[in-house]
Amino acid sequence: MSVAGGLHLAFHRAVLAGCQAMQIFTRNANRWEAKPLGDEEIAAFASSRSASGITCVLAHDSYLINLASPDPEKWQRSIDAFVLELERCSALSIPQLVMHPGAHMGQGEVAGIARLHEAFRLVLDRAPQDVEILIENTAGQGSYLGASFEQLAAILEDLPPDRFGICFDSCHAFAAGYDFRSEEQYAELISHIEASVGLERIRAFHLNDSLKDLGSGLDRHEHIGRGRIGGEGFASLMGDRRFDGVPKILETPKGQDGEMDRVNLELLRQLAARAR
Ligand code: MN
Ligand code: MN
Ligand code: ZN
Repeated sequence: MSVAGGLHLAFHRAVLAGCQAMQIFTRNANRWEAKPLGDEEIAAFASSRSASGITCVLAHDSYLINLASPDPEKWQRSIDAFVLELERCSALSIPQLVMHPGAHMGQGEVAGIARLHEAFRLVLDRAPQDVEILIENTAGQGSYLGASFEQLAAILEDLPPDRFGICFDSCHAFAAGYDFRSEEQYAELISHIEASVGLERIRAFHLNDSLKDLGSGLDRHEHIGRGRIGGEGFASLMGDRRFDGVPKILETPKGQDGEMDRVNLELLRQLAARAR
């Protein structure tokens, strides 16, 4: 949800769209620098939150951060920026931060994961303890880590389960080659996730349809039901009671004044109701 004009304004927009959960950036996602949070900003965020009735708030980290980078300078800068992200979440009482596991930039998967682990160790030493880190599965573009659940399981290994979970992005999974357009395929995918990362590690969803084909490796979000996954693909997921308490976030195109958020939410809720 847009934070244009002030972080607290996102709650108003989310209420207008009919949301129960919300994801924001706590800073400009395309810049390294972030203006420190002021006390008034923090207070306005808290009061808008209680007035809104939206209890479930997630943040997403900056796109510049690469905790797997082989470049020492970029890596250190990423660690500092990521600690700052966690500090901002903690100050705003945002309990979960979604992040991309980063790109190995040609050093290879094993070296990239080792780099990421070392970064997490340093981050945990410095960062507040009250924010959970949710690693997002990726579409398989370039040297990005996290496109397979086996690899995400390898990343999660040795990371404390109370501090680290997974955010499942439906567009990314589909683009990475995971088909769940039929009920049978959905069931297969879920058993695969259960056997690799474990279902209890799925702590949030990004629900996006995909403009590009299965296995394309391309990350292009589309409105629910209007992409290559299609409405039926989301029916099994929305009807799956095991994920009832897990926040589900749209990252689909907004349309005029965010009107498409309403449309996409309505469709997902219909699919959920139909399955009950
Ligand atoms: Mn993301
Ligand atoms: Mn996403
Ligand atoms: Zn994406």
